[in-house]
Amino acid sequence: MSAIPSTASEIAAAVIAKRITARAVIDDYLSRIDARESEIHAFNLVMAQDARAQADAIDADIVAGRPVGPLAGVPIAIKDNMCTHGVETTCSSKILEGWKPPYDATVITRLRTAGAVIIGKTNMDEFAMGSSTENSAFGSTRNPCDVSRVPGGSSGGSAAAVAAGFSPVSLGSDTGGSIRQPAAMCGVVGVKPTYGVVSRYGLVAYASSLDQIGPFATTVADAALLTEVIGGHDPMDSTSIPLASPSLLPSVSQGVSGMRIGRVTDLPAGAEPEVVAQLNEAFAALEAAGATIVDITLPSLSYALTAYYLIAPAEASSNLARFDGVRFGLRVNAADTNSMYGATRAAGFGDEVKRRIMLGTYALSAGYYDAYYGKALKVRRLIAQDFERAYEQVDAILTPTSPVVAFKFGDKVDDPMSMYLCDIYTIPTNLAGHPAMSVPFGTGAHGLPVGIQVLAPALGEQAMFRVGGALEVAAGGAQ
Ligand code: GLN
Repeated sequence: MSAIPSTASEIAAAVIAKRITARAVIDDYLSRIDARESEIHAFNLVMAQDARAQADAIDADIVAGRPVGPLAGVPIAIKDNMCTHGVETTCSSKILEGWKPPYDATVITRLRTAGAVIIGKTNMDEFAMGSSTENSAFGSTRNPCDVSRVPGGSSGGSAAAVAAGFSPVSLGSDTGGSIRQPAAMCGVVGVKPTYGVVSRYGLVAYASSLDQIGPFATTVADAALLTEVIGGHDPMDSTSIPLASPSLLPSVSQGVSGMRIGRVTDLPAGAEPEVVAQLNEAFAALEAAGATIVDITLPSLSYALTAYYLIAPAEASSNLARFDGVRFGLRVNAADTNSMYGATRAAGFGDEVKRRIMLGTYALSAGYYDAYYGKALKVRRLIAQDFERAYEQVDAILTPTSPVVAFKFGDKVDDPMSMYLCDIYTIPTNLAGHPAMSVPFGTGAHGLPVGIQVLAPALGEQAMFRVGGALEVAAGGAQ
């Protein structure tokens, strides 16, 4: 038996070639979790027994000569807002504690079909609202690069799981940056596909016009492989694009020769100098690899954060109305039904979730709808038009992923505005519905990881992965 490889594609290849068993792989990853999870707290639930049974089933298929998928025996951690049949799905909220979905999300079904082994459910900011995973009702996750710091959020547990070596890959959800920002802060790859490429059936909704599921990985190729597996049309999600999953792996090693890469000259300020330095290095590396750097402007970008913090809470206030003590999770009994709703929601939701519900309800209320929500929708349109104009000149755009490297616990919890500013560079893509990824690219302040963000037009995943692959090579990574 050879040593356990570290990437998903190598694990699957070794399992399929019978060089290792899926059971040996899962045992190895479970022992890594045992060794360090009490320090990191990446998981809300480690599914050790279930994972071993899944791995044994894959091994039995291989011994019997039955076909197995491209992720055969690959452990994967799942953000705790994706439904797993019979397995608690909490969104890191007290209101859902104990709730076991009666069905699998489409991404889970696709992963299982591909032979992946679900190893656990990861911690997150409650209902995916946050940028540090400090809003979890079940305690914070620590950044494996420096445990005195946050892993980013809201998919902090999924990012930390991959960074800590608890699983080679994981899934997160990204409504305003929740895959890319924690990926950047933990030094791993994170991808938000085009809105509609990955089915959201079985993803507990935060803001439905923005939410998208995507992978975390240690290499760009693994992120491409995962996106291929979970992508493609799903009739169960009415926003799913009726196209087959894109072929992405060949793009990763294609290089950027001849590509035009946009540099945003009016990018909102605020990035740390070390982050800006890494961005400049990234441009230089792409130019050296044969790309042309083109200056572009995106004038509406400075309004993106404001528009997002009206649109996302507005949609959340409606989506979260279903958590009322009747159908899911927690119920606090009271004298009559209305008081029961109130008592359940007061006890079940954390402060940030309540803040968003109130903001959203206000933005949608009669008399304010046009001034707030309506106006935000117009800004959203302007941002999409800015990108349309830019993509007439360039194939992809580079920005920092996060303006800052991972910060210390407690640094921003009492200042929602400074927390919201963490998403200033990731939010515009969600508003436009475009794909974006974060690739680790050197280090910034305190020697902490910096992520560079690659943006591409809708369904431009192939261009995005070409750039991502080139950045990874320039940063000294896979190839
Ligand atoms: N941090 C942003 C928010 O709090 C984005 C979260 C996300 O993408 N789910 O809304």
